[in-house]
Amino acid sequence: MRTLKELKERVRRFIDDVAIPLESLDIERDVDALDDIARTLRRQAREAGIYGPQLPREYGGLALPWLACAELFEESARSLLGPIALNCAPPDQPNALLLDLLASPAQRAQFLEPIARSEKRACFAMTEPAPGAGSDPSMLQTTARRKHGKWVLNGHKKFISGGIKADIAIVPARTEEGVTLFVFETATPGYRVVRDIPMVTGYQIGGHAEILLEDCELADDAVLGVVGKGLAHIQLRLEPARLSHCMRFIGRARRAMDIAQGYVNERVSFGARLAEQQQVQAMVADSHIDLHASRLLTLHCAALMDEGKSVKHHSSMAKVFVSEAVGRVADRAMQMCGALGISEDAAISAIWREMRPFRIYDGANEVHRSALARRILDRNISP
Ligand SMILES: Cc1cc2nc3c(=O)[nH]c(=O)nc-3n(C[C@H](O)[C@H](O)[C@H](O)COP(=O)(O)OP(=O)(O)OC[C@H]3O[C@@H](n4cnc5c(N)ncnc54)[C@H](O)[C@@H]3O)c2cc1C
Repeated sequence: MRTLKELKERVRRFIDDVAIPLESLDIERDVDALDDIARTLRRQAREAGIYGPQLPREYGGLALPWLACAELFEESARSLLGPIALNCAPPDQPNALLLDLLASPAQRAQFLEPIARSEKRACFAMTEPAPGAGSDPSMLQTTARRKHGKWVLNGHKKFISGGIKADIAIVPARTEEGVTLFVFETATPGYRVVRDIPMVTGYQIGGHAEILLEDCELADDAVLGVVGKGLAHIQLRLEPARLSHCMRFIGRARRAMDIAQGYVNERVSFGARLAEQQQVQAMVADSHIDLHASRLLTLHCAALMDEGKSVKHHSSMAKVFVSEAVGRVADRAMQMCGALGISEDAAISAIWREMRPFRIYDGANEVHRSALARRILDRNISP
């Protein structure tokens, strides 16, 4: 049994020696190239004994608790390809978690096992164009109606990470009993990917899809969990998903600072190294304060998850703080590197682009702030 320290060191070496050298503008937005590279990297990660820190052992994962995952996710995410390599990247990391919690034995075999073994990949298709579900899930327009013993799904989904060439879809739809989750093969007639929506970010396995569901017929065994309990089920995915993003983005922001620190230690301006300029030093110090505070909030929330406690409140606080803090860190790293930071010659620009959407997905920060304030004011919750 390897210690966490040993595992972390293995991940660190793998990221530096294997993943970072493969980062390239040529593959950043190429779904097929990313799938190819994922296959290669995952084989190498298995050989290195670091594949799937969060995944069940029966499927080749390490089944580590959240606190240990926090350290490994952070370490892996120093590379834009790292979480992909370890199969702890979204959307399949939270998809597998949801399936592990809700899937029937047959669904485990059909969907969870191939995702965990990295033979197939899935998307989670919730968001819809207006007037459908966005920040407010109660606006869900996609319907699942019963007809001749089948469920018939109709709807329109947008911005679905991993949706291009996904094999499996998890789709919330409105039924008479309330919102219900469905899991099925995307080869099902009536399921159609319209396009890959260009976003500011790259390195997303399966891009960001727009999807149409047109009389998509599913049998009863496509229901994931309990009919009508979809909104509660979605929370099981969302809370750990947003905390896992915090874990990974701390690693990304660290990488940006590593590059920036290397730069200011070498670069001379006005007769002194940039590292000797107080305003540069302040950017370094503030960034490390942001990273440390982010890590503490994340680790505390991970510890609560390991204790089986609800993290609704704490994961919201962590998500808001970390998404803004890592954005500040990437922005300072960019500033410290001058034109190099803006260019594609350094990874900082890709990292900076990746940080921005985190304030919108997994619940927009404004929505989290308003939910936090309501809970605090209504129930007089103390820190
Ligand atoms: C990179 C990326 C990947 C994504 N991947 C997926 C995916 O895999 N699956 C999926 O289903 N969805 C995905 N999404 C969509 C994401 O979940 C939504 O963007 C998010 O839920 C917000 O919905 P919306 O974009 O419709 O914004 P809207 O609901 O239109 O809100 C727009 C803005 O209004 C403000 N706002 C909203 N409500 C409030 C409020 N109550 N108080 C104050 N301000 C408010 C916020 O600033 C918000 O950003 C992804 C989005 C991005 C950017």
